[in-house]
Amino acid sequence: MIPLTEEQQMLQAMVRRMAREKLKPRAAEIDNTGEFPWDIVELFRENGLFGIHFPEEYGGSGGGVVDLCLAVEEVAQGCSDAAVILAGQALGSKLILLSGSEEQKRKYLPRIASGEFIPAFALTEPGAGSDNVSMQSRAVRDGDYYVINGRKIFITHADVADIFTLFAKTDPEKKARGISAFIINKGTPGLGIGKIEKKMAHKGNHACEVILEDVRVPRENLVGAEGEGFMEAMKILTTSRPVTAARAVGLAQVALDEAVAYAKTRVQFGQPIAKFQGIQFMLADMAIKVEAARQLVYNAAFLADRDYKSKEAQRASSMAKCFATDTAMQVTCDAVQVFGGYGYMREYPVERLMREAKVTQIVEGTNQVQRVVIARALLED
Ligand SMILES: Cc1cc2nc3c(=O)[nH]c(=O)nc-3n(C[C@H](O)[C@H](O)[C@H](O)COP(=O)(O)OP(=O)(O)OC[C@H]3O[C@@H](n4cnc5c(N)ncnc54)[C@H](O)[C@@H]3O)c2cc1C
Repeated sequence: MIPLTEEQQMLQAMVRRMAREKLKPRAAEIDNTGEFPWDIVELFRENGLFGIHFPEEYGGSGGGVVDLCLAVEEVAQGCSDAAVILAGQALGSKLILLSGSEEQKRKYLPRIASGEFIPAFALTEPGAGSDNVSMQSRAVRDGDYYVINGRKIFITHADVADIFTLFAKTDPEKKARGISAFIINKGTPGLGIGKIEKKMAHKGNHACEVILEDVRVPRENLVGAEGEGFMEAMKILTTSRPVTAARAVGLAQVALDEAVAYAKTRVQFGQPIAKFQGIQFMLADMAIKVEAARQLVYNAAFLADRDYKSKEAQRASSMAKCFATDTAMQVTCDAVQVFGGYGYMREYPVERLMREAKVTQIVEGTNQVQRVVIARALLED
């Protein structure tokens, strides 16, 4: 593990306590009701968690990707739905933070850092998931405005978002270099929220369709230069993939802890199942993977903080995302196995952890896409 500063250790301890005392008791309930947990948003606001990765001049606490990963890993050990809120806040604001104009930063970042504003990141379309460049949404210049038409899907927090960082083509001929990024405020005429998906897990965080019909966005809401939005977003993912990976490490860690505790108490053949070497080897393999994933995550976060545009950081970020989320899937699945039939039942937490782990292999570039990125870097060198 990279050495942590005193502040980072304090942050980790504070969030760990919060996760144990306030978040863990809410996890199953949120999964059952599917309601967005405003109480957790309030808790994060009160404790300044939304501003962790923002510079102090924009209302944050001056931390970076490492700090955010530490918090998200701990939060995920209490409640993965809560971790999605924190990670989503970062993803929805990163483009403004790293590519926005000074005016945009001053206007939006303090309100995001305080938790007053919830941002959403709107890239995916029905026909354009991994292949984002084939998106159909169009932004056409009209004087001092852009007029945007299109449809986005699976947009996390769209139903509660105050602002959207949204991507649309300004010059379809130029493919990736013809996609621009915009900030769109809630309530802008023509911006609508469509279908809310019924999901496998993380039911408190809704994934929604976003419909854009002649949405007029002022020119000053263009983020970065016209045609550069998508290229910037791809680089920015280097800073957000370690965060998703940290969420996966948190999920895997709690699954391991649950499995160890259960193995010590469940008695079969007259002894705790932890006495069986078959179970011991499973637990050992789970622990090895969790620790290896954690090391990759914090290395990637450290490199992203140092220079997120470097090839080294990009490759490390894809490796961490891929390995940590595959680990979360494997380890949560193994935890269900250690619990036997009880693990399959809603009464115990491990089946929920397994459902929650799955999406981490899909979002922010599927793990196949991460492997494409890693292989491309290997073959280029
Ligand atoms: C719960 C949830 C929340 C989400 N939140 C957001 C959000 O807030 N904002 C947002 O913009 N998007 C969001 N997404 C969308 C997510 O980023 C996409 O689902 C993801 O990028 C994959 O796109 P797709 O679903 O269209 O799958 P596809 O791209 O159709 O992929 C299908 C399969 O093909 C594989 N595949 C595709 N291309 C290749 C290739 N070149 N080589 C090998 N295999 C390949 C994929 O790995 C996958 O296994 C969310 C998705 C989910 C499930």
